[in-house]
Amino acid sequence: MQKVLVTGGAGFIGSHLCDFLIGKDYEVICLDNFLTGSKKNIEHLLDNPNFEFVESDVTKPLSSSLLDISYIFHLASPASPVDYQNYPEETLLTNSMGTINMLELAKKMSAKILIASTSEVYGDPLEHPQKETYWGNVNTFGPRSCYDESKRFAESATYVYLHKYNLDASVVRIFNTYGPRMQVNDGRVVSNFINAALTNEPITIYGDGTQTRSFCFVSDLVEGLTKVMFTEGTTGEVFNLGNPEEYSMNDLAKKIREMTDSASDIINKELPPDDPKQRRPDISKTERFLNWKPVVSVDKGLLKTIEYYKSINN
Ligand code: NAD
Ligand code: UDP
Repeated sequence: MQKVLVTGGAGFIGSHLCDFLIGKDYEVICLDNFLTGSKKNIEHLLDNPNFEFVESDVTKPLSSSLLDISYIFHLASPASPVDYQNYPEETLLTNSMGTINMLELAKKMSAKILIASTSEVYGDPLEHPQKETYWGNVNTFGPRSCYDESKRFAESATYVYLHKYNLDASVVRIFNTYGPRMQVNDGRVVSNFINAALTNEPITIYGDGTQTRSFCFVSDLVEGLTKVMFTEGTTGEVFNLGNPEEYSMNDLAKKIREMTDSASDIINKELPPDDPKQRRPDISKTERFLNWKPVVSVDKGLLKTIEYYKSINN
């Protein structure tokens, strides 16, 4: 049985990835420090003999129990803008020192490593949709830079380890992903809008709501992550993972209000600085290489997410 390490495994995406890997008969070590994740996300796995949880911080010296690992999914990092702006120093260190630590571990174990980067490396993009070849338009000195620049550093570090040490590594740039287990109060748009709608509180759009995002359901994303990891020929490659279905925040707010039969007002607040105006992945490279594309429509995915929030609020 092959051993897989998932850093950030108690988080939103990481916990779904652990479920998927356990279902495929891998032995899974989930490592997390619960900065933005939760024990609840992995509680159902704790009794599984193929699942081990290690409470640890990727920026700190690693436990000597991490042995014989064949694959590392490095997902540890706050991801929501509210979270990374609450923890800017932790975010910087996790994506820089933490990534170096994980690259070192991969080197020591001769393991394949997948680095979770982000569409934020494209910043406020001047090219639309964004292809992997686009270099981005990022403010290095602003409220989002702790995340954007440390993820860019993580990509550079991976490049160095690939070329200097022949490491077996790939990078994925994840676009907005949503679904069950996103923390109710994580501040991301889908969780905010649904939870406001379900409690008939005002749905708050930042700015004029014409900015766009493209939303990928978590099961599609997990399938993409595993395809990158377990497909031959992905070493040294960067892949966009996301769903190209693009919505303005105005349309998303109306859609969620309708789907929840909510009486919420839709109101506007000030747009935070450096908020990207548009975002949509070009996934043609990922489709071509991995025969992967999202299969869950935004309508279906939102419905599942709404059901989840209803179930935990009851
Ligand atoms: P999340 O906040 O739910 O999960 C991140 C997990 O990492 C949490 O459980 C947290 O406790 C853990 N963590 C943070 N710092 C750590 C540290 N120093 N040591 C150990 N564990 C640590 O976020 P998510 O949405 O599941 O994101 C997972 C990964 O995917 C992140 O790397 C994020 O940058 C990337 N990503 C996510 C999205 C998205 O839309 N969800 C988009 C782009 C990129
Ligand atoms: N947003 C919003 N209302 C909210 C939360 C977010 O209008 O309650 C907007 C935010 O300004 C951004 C978009 O929704 O334009 C997506 O925000 P999110 O925090 O989910 O992620 P981002 O893509 O900005 O990292």
